[in-house]
Amino acid sequence: MEAIKRNILLNPGPSTTTDTVKYAQVVPDICPREKEFAGLMKGLREDLVRIVHGDLEKYTSVLFCGSGTINIDVVINSLLPKGKKVFVVNNGAYSTRAVEICKYYGLPHIDLQFPVDQQPDMEKVEEILKNNKDIALVHTTHNETGTGLLNPIREIGALAHKYGAIFTVDTTSTYAMRPIDIEKDNIDFCMASAQKGLMAFTGLSFVVGNRAIIEKSKDYPKRSYYCNLFQQYDYFERTGEMHFTPPVQTIYATIQALKEYWAEGEEGKWARHTRVFNAINKGLDELGFRQVIKPEWRAGLVSSAIYPDDSNWSFEKIHDYCYERGFTIYPGKISTTNTFRLCALGAIDEADIEDFYVVFKEALAMSGVKTPVVYKD
Ligand SMILES: *Cc1c(COP(=O)(O)O)cnc(C)c1O
Repeated sequence: MEAIKRNILLNPGPSTTTDTVKYAQVVPDICPREKEFAGLMKGLREDLVRIVHGDLEKYTSVLFCGSGTINIDVVINSLLPKGKKVFVVNNGAYSTRAVEICKYYGLPHIDLQFPVDQQPDMEKVEEILKNNKDIALVHTTHNETGTGLLNPIREIGALAHKYGAIFTVDTTSTYAMRPIDIEKDNIDFCMASAQKGLMAFTGLSFVVGNRAIIEKSKDYPKRSYYCNLFQQYDYFERTGEMHFTPPVQTIYATIQALKEYWAEGEEGKWARHTRVFNAINKGLDELGFRQVIKPEWRAGLVSSAIYPDDSNWSFEKIHDYCYERGFTIYPGKISTTNTFRLCALGAIDEADIEDFYVVFKEALAMSGVKTPVVYKD
């Protein structure tokens, strides 16, 4: 097996993969309608439930061919009964995406907004639930990847259940990294994509959730042909296959990635991401960078640094310098503040971050940015 050039991706996914996962895609051609392939997907679906400690009787996973946004689309459009309302607890770009999905489907919804650097005010969340008895689905994002803000999902889920609603959570940027317990965390549906925490490739996304609720949704309005949760679940249960063509090679890679996940272990993997995250923050702190999210509210995977007030600062220049040397940094996703992100996803460790800072410091020096960096106020 020839080593493939190793790039350190500090963007929020797709993330750096191992060569064994890369090569797992190179397989003899196979028609995905063969029994052999359906057998592979059965084990994969079960593993995806085990990652969040779900009981296989109560919870299941449903696979889709698409990037992570397909999951948000699927849960929102499929799990809302007729005449009911969606409630989005929104403090960032990904929950805003869920609100946009509601708008595109014309679904009644409440968009309760909080600032992007603030955890939600739980009293306001409860007030909305109390005053809107027609809310059937509460949605939020676990780690707002645009900033790195952690949301208190267990508490939001408890409130959703208290008022008889189901709770769907976008866990795309925490799943298989920050430990999740679907039942204890009061989650009915969570979701992710193979290219994030699992450290595989784009093209495979999945929803993990409560079987009984999916079965109940059989009679809910069908709002999408391709992105309907019950349809896809039902097809899997009857045939073991995806309704339409699956991302064959990505599925092989994901199966290898799962082997590596279990070998590293939930605790070991989270400890490694934490090491990487701490190394990222130590480097930012030493260079004087300010961050958007205060330390105790960070989800432990994404650091969001504010551009310094230095006329020599150019994200593009610094990005290009790092990129040419195998390190990818990423712009922020906040409309009000100019930020860049460094993320602790992927098959990387502390030493990679140390190597990164050597290059990053060279980039700052080359651009003439003063360090420690300066801010006007
Ligand atoms: C990456 C990500 C997604 C999916 O984005 P795609 O571009 O569709 O892959 C969804 N939610 C969160 C929180 C994410 O981090």
